[in-house]
Amino acid sequence: MPPRYFGYMAGLYIHIPFCKRLCYYCDFYFSVSLQRKDEMLKALIKEIEIRAKENNPAFNEIATIYIGGGTPTAYTPDELGRLVAAIKSNFYSQNIIEFTVEANPDDLSAPYLEGLRRVGVDRLSIGVQSFIERDLKWMNRGHTARQAIESVKLSRRLGFNNITVDLIYGIPGMSVDEWRYNLETAISLNIQHLSAYHLTIEEKTVFGKRQKKNLITPIAEEQSERQFILLRELTASSGFEHYEVSNFAKNKMYGIHNSGYWKQQPYIGIGPSAHSYDGERRRWNVSNNIRYLEKINTAAIFFEEEHLDIPAKYNEYILTSLRTNWGVSLDYIEKRFGKYFQEYFEERSKKLILSGCLVPKNRNVKISTSYVFLSDSIVSSLIFV
Ligand code: SF4
Repeated sequence: MPPRYFGYMAGLYIHIPFCKRLCYYCDFYFSVSLQRKDEMLKALIKEIEIRAKENNPAFNEIATIYIGGGTPTAYTPDELGRLVAAIKSNFYSQNIIEFTVEANPDDLSAPYLEGLRRVGVDRLSIGVQSFIERDLKWMNRGHTARQAIESVKLSRRLGFNNITVDLIYGIPGMSVDEWRYNLETAISLNIQHLSAYHLTIEEKTVFGKRQKKNLITPIAEEQSERQFILLRELTASSGFEHYEVSNFAKNKMYGIHNSGYWKQQPYIGIGPSAHSYDGERRRWNVSNNIRYLEKINTAAIFFEEEHLDIPAKYNEYILTSLRTNWGVSLDYIEKRFGKYFQEYFEERSKKLILSGCLVPKNRNVKISTSYVFLSDSIVSSLIFV
């Protein structure tokens, strides 16, 4: 039985593996064929039932629901409601504290938004990415800048008061002033949360293939850094707290579900390619719609999993905690991984503290705000090898 050190309840994520089109930077798992949508809905419900029957005590109570993808709006609100009904009848979930759905701006009509509210959605994650037409076209997004603005305004008017917007910076050709325009536009829409990601070009994406043929020139590092500094400055002066490398919240309206990942809380992932974690094991579902359907329908094993040993757990803790503003707790390391790992961390962090990359505070250590941009290399020198 996994230890109940979490002092918290679990999150439940559902991956909707369909998209209308392929954004050129995207490396999530999805299919652009919607043919098996109905069959998939039934399989997702079936997986919810299967997972509940496992009776894993780490998932005794569900506190947050997050429907992402892919594109959750491939389903109608009533169809999403069937997933919610399955969660409620299979898991103890009387006290849901956050229910997020990801959506693209072109899918958010008034009837759709009203439908989402009816099924209990209280937080929207809107995939804007940019308010500049040129960049939207370059990334093959399916919406215009105007639709992006209107979707946020409409959501606010219809009562959604917990909205997060995704933006991408570090786009080749994007100037610092254009990035400023994107940030100012997002902030002016009175959102509560912002996720800003630097464009990363993964090998298997359309951009990855173009880059291999030298058709894309990545942005200069100095330009990326200037955009990151602007991001920090503008969000701070607009009342946002930079609480995770890519995440900013107003009035402490942190993404509760995603914060669970960074705080080592347990979560169940339902659907193709979804990951789960119960404190002891990490599990990942098959990343293929047809194979997922076959396996669920024939009661075959639809996932792989690994048991995490103490070094692996320590590394995950360092990797995720140092991304956040609350940082790493030395007491937590000692309690969960033992004295040896606490001393290992202290030894490894000494130089980084002296050079100002890490900041100690009481019994916690976090990455200095001026070095957040270099967090990957800082983290890699602290993991256990
Ligand atoms: S970014 Fe979102 S909408 Fe675009 S292809 Fe990826 S999952 Fe689909």
